[in-house]
Amino acid sequence: MRILLAKNSGFCFGVRRAVEMAEQCAAEGKTVYTYGNIIHNDSVVRELAENGVHSIENLESLSTGDTLIIRAHGAPPAVYEACEARSIHLIDATCPYVKRIHKIAQKAAEEGNTVLIAGKANHPEVVGIRGWAGDNAFVLESEADVAGLPALAKAVLVAQTTLPEETFSAIERAIESRIDRPMELQICNTICDTTRDRQSEAEEISRRSTRMLVLGSKSSANTQELVKICKKHCKNTENIDACDKLLLDKLPSDDIIGIVAGASTPDRMIREVLQVMSEQEKTTIETIEAEAPAEEVVVLQVTEEVEAVVEAPEATAQTKSEPKPEQEDSSDFASAFEKTMTRIRNGQVLEGTVISVVDGEVFVNVGYKSDGVIPVGELSSDSDVKAEDLFKEGDTIEVEVTKVNDGDGNVLLSRKNVESKKLWDELLSQENIEENIFEAVGKEVVKGGLIADISGIRAFVPASQVSTKYIENLNEFVGMPMRLKVLEVDRQRKRIVASQKQVLLAEAAAERRGKWDTLIVGSKVNGVVRRIADFGAFVDIGGIDGLVHVTDAAWGRVKHPSDVFEIGQEIEVLILNVDIEKERVSLGYKQLHH
Ligand code: SF4
Repeated sequence: MRILLAKNSGFCFGVRRAVEMAEQCAAEGKTVYTYGNIIHNDSVVRELAENGVHSIENLESLSTGDTLIIRAHGAPPAVYEACEARSIHLIDATCPYVKRIHKIAQKAAEEGNTVLIAGKANHPEVVGIRGWAGDNAFVLESEADVAGLPALAKAVLVAQTTLPEETFSAIERAIESRIDRPMELQICNTICDTTRDRQSEAEEISRRSTRMLVLGSKSSANTQELVKICKKHCKNTENIDACDKLLLDKLPSDDIIGIVAGASTPDRMIREVLQVMSEQEKTTIETIEAEAPAEEVVVLQVTEEVEAVVEAPEATAQTKSEPKPEQEDSSDFASAFEKTMTRIRNGQVLEGTVISVVDGEVFVNVGYKSDGVIPVGELSSDSDVKAEDLFKEGDTIEVEVTKVNDGDGNVLLSRKNVESKKLWDELLSQENIEENIFEAVGKEVVKGGLIADISGIRAFVPASQVSTKYIENLNEFVGMPMRLKVLEVDRQRKRIVASQKQVLLAEAAAERRGKWDTLIVGSKVNGVVRRIADFGAFVDIGGIDGLVHVTDAAWGRVKHPSDVFEIGQEIEVLILNVDIEKERVSLGYKQLHH
């Protein structure tokens, strides 16, 4: 049996984020409520309920002080207002992409547009959007609904994020072909990228499969759209909402089984189904991905001009309006859009605006049709830094694109890389870098040594270069301040090898040199006898050992220096000669004892 699995299967970004927020509440032992089921999946909803996350359909059932989670679908403003009026604490898990549609709808309504929403009227996401769109809004479930619209002067068309492209295009065409089409029509294709990818993967896989399994709930709109698409190309399409509904005897071994899953299908269900199927003989699994976007993608660069039109660059915006000269101002989507086209690619550094900071992740508007996300680990090289302490909504920040599309349609960003690049530039601009000493902190023990942090740059310190002494356990340097000398810089691979030992050795040498400078011939100094040899005694005069030759030990004949000195004896001596180059000091004892 051959299995073709869609790459974009299981929780989408927005659903995963909402479920994680609910799970976090459950982990903290809080009792919270979700406005409607958090996702269209009974087993996940049941599990959350067992852990204190309950679904309600009516705000009346809440009491003052209760906590309500708004799910990824979002909610109309009336819900926010009611909660505020009744002092109900809100956790807003609305998917940022849905939130953007709210903003488009709200702004369009404020500017006197009729808001047309392509989608299912009773779908909670559409109910929410409609609430933000004001009184002058219509929901269009299909092109047939377009005929029932009144005459419109200005209209903005948006879409439910999970609407099939085909339905949206049919509605768009129907509006454009009306005799009394709106004089000004702005089209914002707000279908979520992950929906598009899932639907195109479903189409491709169902064309190549003899049997299709669509995993997900019967009540999930996006799962049902996948069922419809698959049925068009593969008659043997089944919608499975639990692993135990999988009838293996219905799966002949020469079948090519395609598997797709809705955005609210938990990963564990997909894993279970694959596990069961892979127990069949000669099963192979291939992952099929929607055609990946080109490395370079045309995006909308956010400028004030475009922001003034719409604050939702994720929408594929086009203006289809009558060519009236007075429309060629900043409120013309098309001209604003065209004027501001640019490209992004992996590795590019962009300026963006912080939209929100949620659970350590930062959502950034970089002007692309999808928002960018800085995952927790990409925030800073300092793992102790918290996103909430660094950023707030509206901040302008520089970020690097690490992935144009993570598979869920999100742009992945890194602030750490930008920070690190700047630090590298600063570091490398220093003259004679190898001669400088850098303050650092020991970070972690790795194979063969230690990683230390030099102002945000990771440097490798080999174990032999950590200290002048043998160190048994390098962990004692983790979290401790260090002073490092750069031994090697690999500018291309951005790697530094550093040494603390060289700093310590150089310092000890300098200290010794300083002492030599204080030694003046003819002066008296105190010392301690450290060692006695046949030819004389070595005396420590403060870190430097000088020699009292046997002939300078006493005025009379001395058979052996031990006749005069004993080890540990404190004596006063005269400096007879200093040879700094050879590091030799000659001392006299008898000269002070006439
Ligand atoms: S389908 Fe897209 S818009 Fe909808 S919740 Fe998922 S990520 Fe958000």
